[in-house]
Formats: sequence, C-alpha cells, structure tokens
Amino acid sequence: MILSDTQERLSERRRGTLRETCSALGLPKKDAGLLSDIIRGIHTNVSDEAENRVRVALGLAPKPKVYQLPECPSCGGEPHHGDCHGKTVAQVVVLAPGERVRSPRKPPAKWADYSVRLLAQAIAQRQPYQPEHLAVCR
Ligand SMILES: [Zn+2]
Repeated sequence: MILSDTQERLSERRRGTLRETCSALGLPKKDAGLLSDIIRGIHTNVSDEAENRVRVALGLAPKPKVYQLPECPSCGGEPHHGDCHGKTVAQVVVLAPGERVRSPRKPPAKWADYSVRLLAQAIAQRQPYQPEHLAVCR
C-alpha cells in the first residue's frame, strides 16, 4: 500500500521526465517505472521495499514494518505469537533490524578504571567510594 505522503513528496520533487527525476533523487534511471506506479497509485506494482527506497531518496522515513500474527489455535483472542494453550501470554516488543536493547553498563570495580572526568567530579564533590553512585552521575 503506497502511503499518500510518498506520492505527495514525489509529486513536489518531480522535475522534468521521470528518468530525470530519478537522476535528481539519486535513484537508478530504471526506477522511472516505479516512480510512475507510485504517482499513479498502482499499489500492486510497488513493494514496501521499493517504496522505502524511494521514500529514503525523498528524505522521508521508511514505512514501519507490519507483522501479521496468525490467530492462536487455542484461544483465538488477542493476537500473539504461537499457541498459548489457554495460558496468559507475556507482551513483547519486536525490534526492527539493527535495533537492540541497551542495558546500563556496570561501573568499573576500581578507581583506576574511572575516566578523568568522573574522578575529577568525585574529588571536587568529595564523594566517598561508591561505584554505583558514580555510574549514575556519568
Ligand atoms: Zn492464545
């Protein structure tokens, strides 16, 4: 499904022929047909990947990925992955490719491993040795 802002931005940025527009956007000239399909709204000819290439060239954010979960064979209720066998299911966050979960770093165990900035800060504030506290101030 082509998003309307893709069509609008492409229409605004269109200069001359579609092949010339491809060159102006840094897309290969063979994408002229793709641009034509986007402008005319021929959804079946434009994959999400192809539209995202054009969106990025237009300075738009790529479309978010949509995941369809199959209906659960046990409960048939709220969509969730797999079969819950009638038990409560935990909600999870699906990360996009390249995304990762960051956990806070543990503070170094020794004073010698602290950065100069953190040591200077600790000395100026006359902090007692509390690695957990230093980590929070980072
Ligand atoms: Zn279920």
